[in-house]
Amino acid sequence: MRAFENPALKNFAASFASDLVFAQVFISRRGSGYELRHVADCGLEDAQLQILPLTDLRLLAQSTEAGAFRPLKSAPNLRRGWRVSIASDAELQSALDQLYPGAIADWHAAQSPVPPVTNFREFTNRQTGMYRIAQMLTDAQAAQVITAACHKNFCLKQRLWTVANLPADSRDEKSLLPCLEPCALLLEFARKAMRIEQEEQLTFPLAPAELNTLVAALEHIAEHASTEVREGDFNAAANARRAQLVLEKLRPLVKGGASVDLE
Ligand code: SF4
Repeated sequence: MRAFENPALKNFAASFASDLVFAQVFISRRGSGYELRHVADCGLEDAQLQILPLTDLRLLAQSTEAGAFRPLKSAPNLRRGWRVSIASDAELQSALDQLYPGAIADWHAAQSPVPPVTNFREFTNRQTGMYRIAQMLTDAQAAQVITAACHKNFCLKQRLWTVANLPADSRDEKSLLPCLEPCALLLEFARKAMRIEQEEQLTFPLAPAELNTLVAALEHIAEHASTEVREGDFNAAANARRAQLVLEKLRPLVKGGASVDLE
């Protein structure tokens, strides 16, 4: 009897010759198998890295270097300092699934001429209960929320789904790892963002120089996420995605006169 051949795995393995960077993982061919390590450890000697068994990758992916839980496995904070020897394609799939759940199946789906994405409206329209509120975001508000939540500082997946007037992510800015539909973290962030929109809005004068200071402070929060604020705690004012969302809202003002760069 012929062994079952997984077409997604077969195509993925055939997609590269000697090595491949997949999100934060560097995959290199070693004989009939592979070796995996963190992409930032590419230039290190083998002896400088801890050899991990394949089965330890799930645990490795659970927490950051600082020990914080990683609710989003595609966040750009995978721990460094390890390498794993892989004997076969089947083990390669197991390894990548532990680091990036569903990665090869999603990669394969994204290769089709029309990838099977679920766009923001389709996704939020089927929400019930406490998440229905996300449907109330206007297209412009939803675009700001998505741009902030899926920013490359927070997630390496290439977002292929979208909302009106918001282009999909480019592969160059993110990675080969596709995102086919909004994740739970995005939905929770959208819920919180709509709650904030419903608060009484304040208006106050701000000189361009003060706007620059505000933007610089927000950029610092967004780029140097505090270890004291959980990634998924969107009630925390100092949450990095919340800072990024305010930056997205300030973007038109900054373009209108101040000289800071919001990228
Ligand atoms: S929805 Fe956004 S944050 Fe969530 S996995 Fe997709 S790209 Fe990443």
